[in-house]
Amino acid sequence: MWLAITVMTVNLLVRNNAETGEIPYSAFKQQVRDGNIQSIVIRGSEIRGVYRFPKAETDNRFSTMLPTIADAQLMTLLEESKVVVSVQSTEYSTWVTILINIFPWLLIIGLFLLSRQMLGKQFLPGGGGFTKSRARLAEPEDIHTRYDDIAGLNSAKADLQEVIEYLKFPQKFRRLGAKIPKGLLLMGPPGTGKTLLAKATAGEAGVPFFSITGSEFVEMFVGVGASRVRDMFLQARAAAPALIFIDEIDSVGRARSGMFGNNNDEREQTLNQILAEMDGFKEEETVVVLAATNRPDVLDAALLRPGRFDRKVVLDLPQKLARQAILAVHARGKPIEPDVNLESIALGTVGFSGADLANLVNEAALLAARAEKNSINQADFENARDKIILGERREALFSEEEKRRTAYHEAGHALTAFFMPHGDTLRKISIIPRGRALGVTEQSPKEDMLNYSQHYLEDRLAILLGGRVAENLVFEEASSGAADDLKQATHLARHMIQEWGMSNVLGPVTYRETEQTFLGQEVSPPRVYSEHTAEIIDAEITRLIKASEQRALAVQQQYRDKLDKLAAALLEQETLGEEEITAILA
Ligand code: ATP
Repeated sequence: MWLAITVMTVNLLVRNNAETGEIPYSAFKQQVRDGNIQSIVIRGSEIRGVYRFPKAETDNRFSTMLPTIADAQLMTLLEESKVVVSVQSTEYSTWVTILINIFPWLLIIGLFLLSRQMLGKQFLPGGGGFTKSRARLAEPEDIHTRYDDIAGLNSAKADLQEVIEYLKFPQKFRRLGAKIPKGLLLMGPPGTGKTLLAKATAGEAGVPFFSITGSEFVEMFVGVGASRVRDMFLQARAAAPALIFIDEIDSVGRARSGMFGNNNDEREQTLNQILAEMDGFKEEETVVVLAATNRPDVLDAALLRPGRFDRKVVLDLPQKLARQAILAVHARGKPIEPDVNLESIALGTVGFSGADLANLVNEAALLAARAEKNSINQADFENARDKIILGERREALFSEEEKRRTAYHEAGHALTAFFMPHGDTLRKISIIPRGRALGVTEQSPKEDMLNYSQHYLEDRLAILLGGRVAENLVFEEASSGAADDLKQATHLARHMIQEWGMSNVLGPVTYRETEQTFLGQEVSPPRVYSEHTAEIIDAEITRLIKASEQRALAVQQQYRDKLDKLAAALLEQETLGEEEITAILA
């Protein structure tokens, strides 16, 4: 619409000028002298007029410009020639003036309304405004999520059982004057099922589920987040009993006094609004707020005060039995072959979250479908796991020399692992390239470990360096293929020396740098120890790594024949399983 008005205005102005034939001022004066001008209109410095004897009937108009130097004789000449003279004001007409004055404002208001509409459409499918809450009433399938769909997490489920009871039968608690927690904080690494647990809690209690992500609150304009919070709590109160779920609460609830003055106004206002809403719950309002975070350490203390998120529910990465159960939940209803052993998959997936395991089952199904099969077998599961850990299998153009080097490298890891007193069980060795890796040696502990002894970690270092040691032993030179091993070994050694007090020289002291944030981003912390200590730390890391390298070398020199046998078997078969490895090394 604005465009149309602008184009129209410009067109009108242009047409007026184009219709009159412009002539030089001197020619105009000559025409006056010749008595050929009937009338003129003077408007500012412009003169427009009509000829008395036009050359053609359609061509009776002209225009010219007055010179800047005043022409004192012009009026006398015009009067002598009996030209009708009229003068027009140069001011625009009232309407044009109004239009010109209000046009910029109309434009600004128009753009504002347009952006409001677009933002509303983008984020809230049902329309709605810029400051409206993006909290969504749960879709019907959300309500169908139950505790049965969640494997493991037994203690978290037990913690939330009380909330379910309260949402279902609030009277039972009120009668006895019991105070139920208003807010619970779900803490755990990404993908451990925090969202799933919140949904299932609403599902079990049969109440509406409002969910929003912390980062969605934080917008460009100060105050928008706070009004979204207000709106969401209003909706939930109206629908009470209800459950509110705030994901990624750390994005609004980070501690407010960062050392770089990262007091982000918008975040602070939003956080204050959440706190105010929670403080303002009335007795009869049955609304429980669950918030999730994987960074509980950075949360503002105000969030954790009594009456707010004063209960913590911890969700850990699943242990072996839980991993097996999660695999089973996601394998439910899929055609699985009898040879599938979920226990062995669970053993080989230490460190996987629930989301990773769900992804693994789906990947296995995709692989089976890609091979045009009707059911999923053990190999599909194992390949899916390797794909997730290492990346897609790839065809690499290996020279015989490179292949031999890779075989010795992997055999070096495996041999060291086999003969180190604290080495984990060897599951597989392969020289089939995947992702960035040319080969892989896979080990997994018999049981998940929560704590690592110094001896275990020293053996781990020797195993990590074992590949490079074998290359040096056989080919008398190192290669770039060990880069990732070195990185991991250095990282581990740094932790052992700097954080876990495993250096006799430094003693039981931790030199861990505390995390700093600036505008929500993590930044390198300033060093909290002296230059002298830094030098000792570096020297200790080098000492530890070199000692581990020597231990790996000693094992490989002692069992050189087994190293050769293992490498030869790898070159021939490319992949060796647990039994084949044991047969060669035992
Ligand atoms: P984030 O911190 O990244 O938001 P989250 O902890 O909220 O992650 P969810 O989104 O709940 O994790 O989990 C992702 C998916 O992983 C779930 O939809 C589910 O399929 C699967 N999953 C996670 N934990 C479990 C579990 N214990 N049992 C069954 N499935 C699980």
